[in-house]
Order: sequence, then structure tokens, then C-alpha cells
Amino acid sequence: MIYDLFIVGGGINGCGIARDAAGRGLKVFLAEQGDLASGTSSASTKLIHGGLRYLEHYEFRLVREALIEREVLLRQAPHIIWPLRFVLPHHQGLRPRPLIRLGLFIYDHLGGRKLLPPTRSVDLHADITGRPLKPRFVYGYEYSDCWVEDSRLVVLNARDAANRGAEIKTRMKCVSARRNEEHWEIVTQDENGRRDTHQARALVNAAGPWVSEVLGTIESFQSTDRIRLVKGSHIVVDALYDHDRCYIFQNTDGRICFAIPYEQDFTLIGTTDEDYVGDLGKPEITEAETDYLLAAVSEYFRRPVKRADVRWSYSGIRPLYDDGASKAQEATRDYVLRLDAGAGKAPLLSVFGGKITTFRRLAEVVLEKLIPYFPAATGPWTSGVALPGGGFRLGEIEAIVSDLQHRYSFLSPRNVRRMFRAYGTDAYEVFGDARFGPDMGKSFGLLTEREVTYLKDNEWARTPEDILWRRSKLGLHLSQDDQKALAAHMGASGGVPEKIAEEASTETSEDLSEEDEAKPKSKTRKKAKE
Ligand SMILES: Cc1cc2nc3c(=O)[nH]c(=O)nc-3n(C[C@H](O)[C@H](O)[C@H](O)COP(=O)(O)OP(=O)(O)OC[C@H]3O[C@@H](n4cnc5c(N)ncnc54)[C@H](O)[C@@H]3O)c2cc1C
Repeated sequence: MIYDLFIVGGGINGCGIARDAAGRGLKVFLAEQGDLASGTSSASTKLIHGGLRYLEHYEFRLVREALIEREVLLRQAPHIIWPLRFVLPHHQGLRPRPLIRLGLFIYDHLGGRKLLPPTRSVDLHADITGRPLKPRFVYGYEYSDCWVEDSRLVVLNARDAANRGAEIKTRMKCVSARRNEEHWEIVTQDENGRRDTHQARALVNAAGPWVSEVLGTIESFQSTDRIRLVKGSHIVVDALYDHDRCYIFQNTDGRICFAIPYEQDFTLIGTTDEDYVGDLGKPEITEAETDYLLAAVSEYFRRPVKRADVRWSYSGIRPLYDDGASKAQEATRDYVLRLDAGAGKAPLLSVFGGKITTFRRLAEVVLEKLIPYFPAATGPWTSGVALPGGGFRLGEIEAIVSDLQHRYSFLSPRNVRRMFRAYGTDAYEVFGDARFGPDMGKSFGLLTEREVTYLKDNEWARTPEDILWRRSKLGLHLSQDDQKALAAHMGASGGVPEKIAEEASTETSEDLSEEDEAKPKSKTRKKAKE
């Protein structure tokens, strides 16, 4: 079989392109070397945002496109994407208030805000959002952006692509590619070392941080474009406050830092920005980054945030287009698409950069560039079509949650809401005909055997790590015993991944007090990388 598109990379960009192309009638094959979203797409700040800060770098095109996409995506996936309000306290000596007001005015009006509420001024001494902050912060502004479950967005795109005929293969690495006049020959290797050759009319390199590495495996090909690898890290601490608003803090170095309510019990703090050299598969937070983040938020919160509060951390690498900017934080966040094609040259399209927020538009632009080579392909279609489980309106959320609770009354309200947020209306498929708790099979804390089976059958989950850290963030909530039981359960069919095995062997029963069982262990969690 000759495919139309062979896509390297199962991050948000690869999966978004696969979905768009399959929906236009193209025959698509996507190879991901690890798990879906195992690269940068599970390590973001998880915001669908215009990027207020990018206005300072005059990235108006990107900000406008991203602001428009915010509501397009919110409508398509209202289970995994939801509105957030951000409070920006004014800091004497940093950006002046008129500048902040101007930035927020532009942010509110630059593109497409219909559902989300506008900016308002906040008297931090009177508003609930001022309570956790030091009293010297008096004025603030509150504006809108959205949250996204980043790795679930990737998987839902992959599912939709597969529903439309795409072949999605995980644990399959693209090791070399050769261009003939009419098509590409791509060699892949699976986790058992088996090599296969695939033929495709066009090759899409959506390998994120590995984009240059993949270009290097193409026979007789030289690229002049360069990628700038910029690491960003986050820490997760016990919840720092008890309202639902987020904070965007200005740092003295000109950067900003977010503090966001996370997974009910925690606060997510990030991020850093530093050029990265090292193993692309294993970026890790450094002590200096942790200190930087702790200092950044402690400048604002009444109670200083300390190392002992850190429960987990993760790092990712931004695959930015190298535009020659002097500082990592100034390198463009916009995407650059490079098409290499011509007479007797099967097309090669490489993706540099790109935000989670702009993945759908990026995929449309990729297809616009490739469509001349596929005259039978149909036109753009993704702007108005829901992702799996997301076919409902924002106003219907509470009705669906209470219907789920009514039908599956054996589940706790917290778990019903979690399932709704993960699967939307597909939660009915996960629960199926279950009437009582035992119908869900074995239990691993909040997780049940039925959900595990669903994830293996429908979402390419193979290991406990896929489930605990990418299909969900249950790794933060499940006790060590439940995680070990899951590993043993999946081990029978999917193997126990190194991380779980390592944790299981380093943790003795004395390490686990009752309280610890309910909370993740910072020592082991800090080693985990998504
Ligand atoms: C710290 C941080 C915070 C961020 N926050 C936000 C945010 O809040 N909002 C936002 O919109 N964006 C954010 N971003 C940006 C966004 O996360 C990335 O731009 C986006 O995830 C990149 O997706 P990708 O598909 O290009 O790359 P990836 O997700 O890395 O996907 C590339 C995939 O290709 C695979 N691959 C590589 N080589 C091969 C091969 N030879 N064969 C097969 N597969 C291969 C990799 O395993 C990987 O899974 C953030 C990024 C970082 C680092």
C-alpha cells in the first residue's frame, strides 16, 4: 500500500495533522517512537491561550491566531478544555499599570472573544484573590484564558484520525527515509527491533524537538533551518490557596510565572526558559530552576513556598524555530513550516515550533501547502467538528455530569467529575452497563480495571506510565500500593515500565504512612517525567 502522508511524531502537531488529513480523504500513517504525547505535548503549562507576554515581542499574528483558536477549541472539546481566570497583580517597579491595561485591552479585542468574559480590575484588598498575596499587592487585573488537558488533546486527535481511517502506530521509530521521484520509502523499527519499509507520497516531519534529528536520517538531504531547544520546567506543590482563580506573576527578570490550581489538591507553578543541550527524551528540572520558581512565587504569596512543598515536577523542551534571538525567552513562539518539493521530488514538510493552542490552524496550513499534490483531497473541515466525547455545548456540562452520577451512583462525585473531564460523553462508553462497583472490575484507587481496558483498547495505552501520567494524572492521586497493583495487572499484558519498577523497589513499607498513601511522595514523583 502506498500512503498519501507518512507522519513522523505523535505529539499534538503530528496527531492534529493526521486528523485533518484523514478527514480530507487522505491515506495517513503516523509513527510515534514512544507513547502518544510522550514528548513536549504532555509537558506544557496546559493553557489554551493567546500568550499575553508575546505582545511585548510584537508577535501579533501569533497572538491573534491563538486568541481565535481559544474559543474554536473550547467549543470542540469542552470536556478537556475549560475557561480560566488569571489574576495579574500590579508590582511596583515592574510594568506600569497603563502598560498592563493597554496589553489587556489588546488581548481582549485582538481576536474572537465571544464566550469568555473580558478583563476586570481587581481590588486585591477586597477580593478573595488578594487573600493569599502579600498586602503590598493592592491592584490587579483579572482576564480570561483556557485550560487544556494537553496529552488528552493529543490522544483525542489520534482517535479522531483513526476513526477517519488513519493508521496510528506507537512505539515505532522512523529510522531512515529515502526519496524517490514519486514517493518516499520510510524505514521504521518497532520496540522488538523489527524493521519495516513504508511507502508514501509525502513525508511530514512533526518530530518536535527531534525535527532536525529526523531530517538527519533522510538520505542525501541537507537542511538550512535550525531548531532552538528551550527547556521549561514546572513544579507541583500542595494547593496554595482555595479559590479557583490562577495567578500570573511578573518576575524581576522580565519573565512571567503562573500559579494554577491543579488536579484539585495541588498548585502548578511554571515555567522556566533555558537553552537545552542533552538527551531529548529526558529533560529534567535542575535545582536552580526549582529555586527560581520557588523564589518567583514567594515574591507574591504571603506564605513562602519551600522545597519541602514540592510534590512533583516535570520538564519539556520547546522546539522553537531558531530565529537568531539572543535570549531563549525572546525566540519566536510562532511556527515555521518548510516545504521541500518540486519536479521529481516527493514533498517533505517539516514543522518547526508551534503551540498546543495553534495546532489545529497549523494542521490546516500544512494541508493547504500539501493539497496541490493531492487534487482529490477535500477542503478544510476541522473548525466546527467536535473531538471525541466533546459533542455538547458548554451549558450542558452540569446536566451530563448529574446524569452520569445518576446512572453510575456507585461512583463518588469526585470520580464521576474526573471521568467526565477525561472522556466527556464517551464516559458512558467507559462505564458501559456497569450497575454496581464490582462491575468495574479490579480497583486501583480512583482507577478501575474497566477504565484500564478502555484505555488499552481505544487510546493506545500500553504501560502504567501511559495511564498514570498521560491519559490521566492519576499518578498524583494513586497510592504507591495502587500503582504497584496496576503495574502487576498490566504487567501480565503490557510489561512493567522501568519507572514503576524502580519506585516499587526503592520504597519500603515503612516509607508509607497513612497520610503518605493519600499524597504522592515528592522524592519519587520528582524523578517522574511525563
Ligand atoms: C514548558 C513548556 C510549556 C508550554 N506551555 C504551553 C502552553 O501552555 N500552551 C501552549 O499552547 N503551548 C505550550 N507549550 C508549547 C507546546 O507544548 C509545544 O509547542 C507542542 O507540544 C509541540 O508539539 P509537537 O507535536 O511539535 O512536539 P512533541 O509533542 O514533542 O511531539 C513530537 C513527537 O515526535 C516523536 N518522534 C521524534 N522522533 C521520532 C522518530 N524518529 N520516529 C517516530 N517518532 C518520533 C517524539 O517521541 C514526540 O512524541 C509549552 C512548551 C513547553 C516546553
